[in-house]
Amino acid sequence: MSEISLLSPRLANQIAAGEVVERPASVIKEVLENSLDAGATQLDVEIEAGGVKLMRVRDNGLGIAQDDLAMALARHATSKIQDLDDLEAVATLGFRGEALASISSVSRLELTSRHHRAEHAWTVKAEGRDMQTQVVPAAHPVGTTVEVRDLFFNTPARRKFLRKDNTEYGRVEDVLKRLALSRFGVGFSLKNNGRVVHSWRPADSQIEQERRVAQICGPAFMSSTVHVDIERAGLRLWGWVALPTFSRSQADLQHFFVNGRAIKDKLVTHAVRQAYQDVLYHGRHPAYALYLEVDPATVDVNVHPTKHEVRFRDGRLVHDFIFRSLHKALADVRPEAGTAPTN
Ligand code: ADP
Ligand code: MG
Repeated sequence: MSEISLLSPRLANQIAAGEVVERPASVIKEVLENSLDAGATQLDVEIEAGGVKLMRVRDNGLGIAQDDLAMALARHATSKIQDLDDLEAVATLGFRGEALASISSVSRLELTSRHHRAEHAWTVKAEGRDMQTQVVPAAHPVGTTVEVRDLFFNTPARRKFLRKDNTEYGRVEDVLKRLALSRFGVGFSLKNNGRVVHSWRPADSQIEQERRVAQICGPAFMSSTVHVDIERAGLRLWGWVALPTFSRSQADLQHFFVNGRAIKDKLVTHAVRQAYQDVLYHGRHPAYALYLEVDPATVDVNVHPTKHEVRFRDGRLVHDFIFRSLHKALADVRPEAGTAPTN
């Protein structure tokens, strides 16, 4: 008697969903990253009841062709990489081909899209319970709208772990803010329960960028920062670092992006921390929004399903570059250091 059998595709997707779809905010992250990968310059997000009832994201990206719509929902289906070489130097935020399959296995998902070369738009629906999909004509400008309703309606165990609507909404907002910090050239809007909460227009000049940073990280942060922009040996580090006088009691204002992807990385955190070492009071944390640009082939982003971690091919070089760049930037404004902390 055989005791081993293959999981059904639906169950396999639901299990995979456990890794990337933890809560509404993780859905929003995946969906918005797809829009950015599709070259969208405007992203409009709508949330109802903390995202559990409804999340709708509309973009003006390249769109999905009719023939690809159903495929987009399949597991391991991606347009972003084709072979291992592509993975070695991946420049898109996504590449695993899992997000839409996972999300649609635990929600009621509707994908509407008009490809930039198509005459009109099409819609495909998927409901967790049965993965049957049907593609029907729709009205939509070039771009894509993803609608996710009733998250975890078929996985009550997951649903139980969700917090109050407000808490879930707050996490969605955090994701949007982080993405808005990662792509200044893109406009973002966020509607919560029918009310427009944020609307950021594309910010191309440094002044416009600083306005967006001030809106997201607070005006006090922005007015206590030094702007850095340093390039050496194929590495570029730019952004804003707070003066030691604006240190925080928590590590809650630390944004670091590698090639436009928000990451949390021990090596990076350590390098920044070390640059602040002589100028920060014990127990205080630096605040920053920093952007590292490197050759995609020198960084591995396929370390964890959520892609928050990265592995640098030459970690020592990157650490050294970040440390030296920031140390110098902070040393140049040294007279400010040593004053009492403000919060
Ligand atoms: P991945 O992003 O890893 O490729 P996803 O499951 O997130 O996997 O998406 C599957 C595919 O669907 C993508 O590779 C892309 O071709 C297409 N797609 C998803 N969202 C969009 C969008 N907003 N605009 C254009 N294409 C999209
Ligand atoms: Mg994706």
